[in-house]
Amino acid sequence: MSTDHHHPAEPAPIERRVAALEALLTERGLVSPGFVDEVNRAYEEDIGPRNGAKVVARAWVDPDYRRRLLADSTAAIAELGFGGAEGDHMQVVENTDSVHNVVVCTLCSCYPWPVLGLPPTWYKDPAYRARVVREPRAVLAEMGCQLDDDVEVAVWDSSAEQRYLVLPQQPAGTDDLSEDQLAELVTRDAMIGVARP
Ligand code: FE
Repeated sequence: MSTDHHHPAEPAPIERRVAALEALLTERGLVSPGFVDEVNRAYEEDIGPRNGAKVVARAWVDPDYRRRLLADSTAAIAELGFGGAEGDHMQVVENTDSVHNVVVCTLCSCYPWPVLGLPPTWYKDPAYRARVVREPRAVLAEMGCQLDDDVEVAVWDSSAEQRYLVLPQQPAGTDDLSEDQLAELVTRDAMIGVARP
C-alpha cells in the first residue's frame, strides 16, 4: 500500500475531533450554530477560488506571466502571493481548442488549497473519482460541460506530491475587460475543469 498518498479508508479522526470541537464551542455559546459550516462554504466557494481566479486572469492579460505559469507553476503562483500547504508542487494545465483538462484525485481528495480553497463535496465523491477517469466526457456532460467530439480530454490525477489547476480559455469577446473583471468570470469549477467560464 502506498504511503506517499494520504487516502483515509475511513472517516479521518480529525473530522470527528473538529465536529466535537464545534459542538463544544456552540454549546458554550462561543460560536453560533452553522458558523463552521459557513466558514467551510466560504472557503469552498468564495475565498479559496478567488486566488486561482486572479492567477488565471493574470495569465489571460500577460503573455509573459502565462509562459512562466506553464513553465514553473508553483513559482508563478507565488508571484501573486499564493502558496504553501497543499500547493507547494503545482502544475497548471492549459485548455486549448483541441485539449480540455479536468482534475481529479482518484485515491482521496488532493486539491490545491492555496488557489482553490477546500474541495467541493462532489470532488471527494467516489463516483466522480472513479467515473471521470473512465468516462470523462459523460461526467463532464452531466455536469453541464459539453465538449465537441474533436476535443481531447486530458484527466490529471492529483496526489500529495502534485496538484493541478486548469487554465481555462478566455471567453470570446472579453478582450476589453480589465484583469479584475476577467477574474470575476473565472469559477472554481472552470479551474477544476468541469465547467468553462
Ligand atoms: Fe488525494
